[in-house]
Amino acid sequence: MGAEKNTKFTLPLADNLAVEAVYYESGTLCLSSQAGCAVGCPFCASGSAGLHRNLSLAELTAQVEAARQRGLHPRRITLSGIGEPLHNLQTTLAFLPWCRQQGLDVSLTTTAHPLSRLPDLLHLPHNGLMISLHAGTARTHKQVIPGGPPWEDLWTLLSREWPLLSRRRRRKLGINYLLLEGVNDSPQELTALVDRLKPFPELTLHLLVCNPVPGSPFRSPSQEGIGAAYELLRKAQVNVRRANRWRQMEEGGCGTLYVRHLAQTQRA
Ligand code: SF4
Repeated sequence: MGAEKNTKFTLPLADNLAVEAVYYESGTLCLSSQAGCAVGCPFCASGSAGLHRNLSLAELTAQVEAARQRGLHPRRITLSGIGEPLHNLQTTLAFLPWCRQQGLDVSLTTTAHPLSRLPDLLHLPHNGLMISLHAGTARTHKQVIPGGPPWEDLWTLLSREWPLLSRRRRRKLGINYLLLEGVNDSPQELTALVDRLKPFPELTLHLLVCNPVPGSPFRSPSQEGIGAAYELLRKAQVNVRRANRWRQMEEGGCGTLYVRHLAQTQRA
């Protein structure tokens, strides 16, 4: 089990929309929580057409069943595909116990918007909660996650909730940082992030690489640039990890099939 190749597939929905999932060789199935997304990150193909609608619980579980019908054997689920789980919170909260009943660990990725709902996720028995930041300063954060939470309020909330979390729960929290050349990869930006992370020593910082989207000006730095960012963070005692190899492989990205499906249905 878990020896299958990276596989990306769409699941057609009743209203001519489609939802996209990616199965990684590691045995993790990455699912979408919404059709489209309202957050509007400019580097993201999935969000480029805005939000169409939330997915139902049945549509989330159908993605797991569809993977199994393809002969795949997911062992873990990550709600890190298209959509913002906090924008579809009730369904997300119902999906987690369903996964546990199936013996599947669940992790989530969020921009932390709206901030008032973040504590609901922080204290859940999840297997990992990644907060997408992609920035070390308020200015860059606004540029790369325009629909994200207010920068200072996010850190204030984290400082407030941090003492309420056990060491084990803190280790389940992480920050996602998608390196974008010329946008957020400067030593100044990364050093500003290092300062922000100091009160949260157990947080893991995941350096992600940008899968190029046709027509998008956003690019990943070179391998040397990625290496330099990693070394700067490591030397500053940040608990930093590089993207795992499965996510860097062909079919490792998310959103392109969804965008293709939208274009096809619009043409039809
Ligand atoms: S990166 Fe995630 S949060 Fe941002 S627009 Fe894309 S799907 Fe939405």
